Amino acid sequence: MDILLLGPPGAGKGTQGALLSQALGSPKFSTGDLLRDAVKQGTPLGVEARAVMEAGHLVSDEIILGVIRDELAKPVSAHGVIFDGVVRTIPQAEGVAEVLQAMGRQIDTVLFFDVSDEHLLRRLAARRDVESRADDDPAAVVTRLKAYREQTAPVIAWYAAHGGLTRIDAVGTVAEVSDRAMRALARA
Ligand code: AMP
Repeated sequence: MDILLLGPPGAGKGTQGALLSQALGSPKFSTGDLLRDAVKQGTPLGVEARAVMEAGHLVSDEIILGVIRDELAKPVSAHGVIFDGVVRTIPQAEGVAEVLQAMGRQIDTVLFFDVSDEHLLRRLAARRDVESRADDDPAAVVTRLKAYREQTAPVIAWYAAHGGLTRIDAVGTVAEVSDRAMRALARA
């Protein structure tokens, strides 16, 4: 089963994705984690993406689609993947659909983790104190939320129109939100 997690930065996609991955035994694939690793290791991908990420902008569709193709070609991804924050623009949604279609697959379910701006800002500020991520700095957060509204929010309507999108109220404890996500999957 291929499951896509959507939602603004700070919505809890990473945490919930890890729990779903454990519960379902499917690998979780996060372009954010993969890019952060590339930056840490100083690979050509990391060198190219670093400044864009630190400023809070989106990395180009071309780079992201290359990363997605590489990931889906791995044997570990052969039986379905939990896509965590992997699709952030309409061209990426179209590109993922195309790559999966060539493998006889499709995104089976989209879970949209919905959180108010007020909660997001509070969560991102708390995460900055714990993880010291450059892109959780206040100026980068403003840019990331703007990128989300302008480029990623339309992806929600795209998937809703293509079927299989469930909105999850992502305000609550980790266990409460996880329970909602598992119930939504059971209904899907
Ligand atoms: P995340 O931790 O998932 O919020 O990702 C951190 C940063 O990586 C984002 O702010 C973007 O700069 C970049 N990034 C991750 N995934 C994508 C994507 N699918 N499209 C464009 N940029 C991305």
